[in-house]
Amino acid sequence: MTAGSTQPGSGAARAAPGQAGPPDADSLAEIELAAARRPVDTFGQGCVIVCNHLVRIYLVEGVEVQALQGLDLEVAPGELTALIGASGSGKSTLLNILSGMDRPTAGQVTVAGHDLLTMKGKDRLQYRRETVGFIWQQTSRNLLPYLTAAENVAVPMSFTGVSRRARAARAASLLEMLGVASCRDRLPAEMSGGEQQCAAIAVALANNPKVVLADEPTGELDTATAAHVFSALRTASAEAGVTVLVVTHDAEVAEHVARTLAIRDGRTSTEVLRRATAGGLVDAGAGEEYAVLDRAGRLQLPGEFTEALALRDRVRLALEPDHIGVWPDTVPPARDAERPGRHRQAGPGRSGRREGE
Ligand code: ADP
Ligand code: MG
Repeated sequence: MTAGSTQPGSGAARAAPGQAGPPDADSLAEIELAAARRPVDTFGQGCVIVCNHLVRIYLVEGVEVQALQGLDLEVAPGELTALIGASGSGKSTLLNILSGMDRPTAGQVTVAGHDLLTMKGKDRLQYRRETVGFIWQQTSRNLLPYLTAAENVAVPMSFTGVSRRARAARAASLLEMLGVASCRDRLPAEMSGGEQQCAAIAVALANNPKVVLADEPTGELDTATAAHVFSALRTASAEAGVTVLVVTHDAEVAEHVARTLAIRDGRTSTEVLRRATAGGLVDAGAGEEYAVLDRAGRLQLPGEFTEALALRDRVRLALEPDHIGVWPDTVPPARDAERPGRHRQAGPGRSGRREGE
């Protein structure tokens, strides 16, 4: 055989000039086939906030604190979502990352198309000024005490080159939209807590952000005033078309928003969806609770369920035509005989191999 001749059937695998050697035709074809078979990953598609396995570990005197433990989160544009969790569950950690003030240890996070892992100093500053607005729990932290409400709303616009006249006009119209037009020329000390938070929402909206983030915005307010602030946040979401994410430890907040997510131990675990009524309010009776199934197939069972059936360490699973059964490991297998032939066991020891493997 002369040098340079090819083997029959090897044309597809021929090395291009300069390549080290011919790739293996079979393995290439296999890889391409496997890629084509893989389900298209639609996670985060069309969403304005996307967190994918977000991890944040703090190092305190050599000890690791896992504030976020692989959190997944999708928020669609224009949604008003509440993330509810106990103190220490990682809510502020998440908001600090979404607002561009902190960086995650691992995972992916994008807000309005900005990749917050790779974003550099100058872009980060611009992101914080123009893409996100922020509302803190402490009313005193949101507004400068020596400026009126209107002057406070004008401050963020002065960083983005808006003319003085346009600033004043926008400040007045935002305060009006949020129901606090009467506070325009008042200092924060001359306003109630609820009025201050509504003015703070106006400050957050000043530069027309894509996303408004609020960390316990009603934490210092009574229930009636909190309802008023939530109504202002709903207005922001509906009229300014902005996406709003509120974090709070107050489960009552669920009554004011269409979508609530629960965060436990740094991971989102359950989700409640409520239908809005014609008046824009929320029909609490229509709320349905869902558990969040993450992309690795993991879900967190609600504590009430696991406690009621004493589920711990290990459970037995069975696939039914339209649901999955979960039993305590202690239930004798005889129980399954009551459901003959309807399910496949997926308990300990099941091989998990498919036919032909
Ligand atoms: P939440 O806002 O839900 O109350 P945080 O996000 O503030 O929770 O805190 C989550 C966990 O991370 C807690 O255990 C907290 O002690 C820890 N943590 C938060 N910030 C820091 C920090 N800067 N350094 C060390 N640990 C922190
Ligand atoms: Mg907090």
